[in-house]
Amino acid sequence: MFNALVVEKTETGTQADLRQISYDDLPAGDVTVAVDYSTVNYKDGLCIGPGGGLVRVYPHVPGIDFAGTVESSDDPRYRPGDKVILTGWRVGEVHWGGYAQKARVKADFLVPLPHGLTTRQAMAVGTAGLTAMLAVMALENHGLEPGKAPVLVTGAAGGVGSVATALLANLGYEVAAVTGRPETADYLTALGATQIVARSEINEVTKRPLEAERWAGCVDAVGGDMLARVLGQMCYGASVAAVGLAGGASLPATVIPFLLRGVNLLGIDSVMQPFENRQKAWARIAKDLPLSKLEGMIVPAVLSDLPRLGKDILKGQVQGRVVVDVN
Ligand code: NDP
Repeated sequence: MFNALVVEKTETGTQADLRQISYDDLPAGDVTVAVDYSTVNYKDGLCIGPGGGLVRVYPHVPGIDFAGTVESSDDPRYRPGDKVILTGWRVGEVHWGGYAQKARVKADFLVPLPHGLTTRQAMAVGTAGLTAMLAVMALENHGLEPGKAPVLVTGAAGGVGSVATALLANLGYEVAAVTGRPETADYLTALGATQIVARSEINEVTKRPLEAERWAGCVDAVGGDMLARVLGQMCYGASVAAVGLAGGASLPATVIPFLLRGVNLLGIDSVMQPFENRQKAWARIAKDLPLSKLEGMIVPAVLSDLPRLGKDILKGQVQGRVVVDVN
């Protein structure tokens, strides 16, 4: 028997409780993993509570990412003792996830832990950090290089934003961090931001489709009005990597920045990302993310903290990266 956070459907919604379950309860899959750490993402907030419609079948074990050690494997790619990471593939939504001491998944969903990272560090990075890395890689593929105007990071004190800020600063970019929480300024500066932009300065759409050119690139975790506004502030030929919707799913923009400034809007998906690109992104994280800064983002937690943390992340109240020690 082992511990798991199990979400049950109730008459009024859902209820998440810490429970003992057994290997027989785990879903089918070809690799069984002893989970070391998981983390908390916005989607986890939805799946711990009743929201989102992401979970179809109850009882459910949430946790959209985890890192741990292979216990048994029917797949030749993995052997007992191998360290692995799981992100995406709708694990924690459609499949049972990482909020348990054991998980059973398809081998296709896993990537080997890259050299240079521990399983704890991998979950400090987590889906949020992987997505930040994919966003930076997409910007690089579209010509971003240091030495031009600052790169904007929106939702900077959140998970994606924190990792994007630290990565970009370490790669030599000047980083402008947008936050709605002025009290996080010291934290963001410690991650490498050289400019703090107040959310209120940038989160309303203006009548002007183009403003002065300010940003050489942008990692956007917010969407909505802020993304629309940022498009009109991009430098000629610059790109925005659209990662999230913390501020809304709409995009009340005009096409003018695309037509007159050659601005690019790049979509970033971490969930169905092919294995090769995932592996490439994890190798880049191990190389380019300063581990001392990663340590500074970590908020430690245990399984019993998750009902509270799930609510906090939905309210935008989590700073940095929660690392859940499931043991
Ligand atoms: P967090 O909750 O950790 O961070 C989101 C941040 O956005 C907050 O910390 C806050 O930053 C800012 N924010 C929150 N509400 C608003 C608002 N109403 N208006 C403007 N800014 C706001 O979440 P994550 O960093 O984990 O994820 C960020 C987004 O990216 C989410 O929408 C998530 O669903 C998405 N995502 C997408 C992935 C993909 O594959 N495309 C993968 C992972 C995440 P501050 O306090 O600094 O202003």
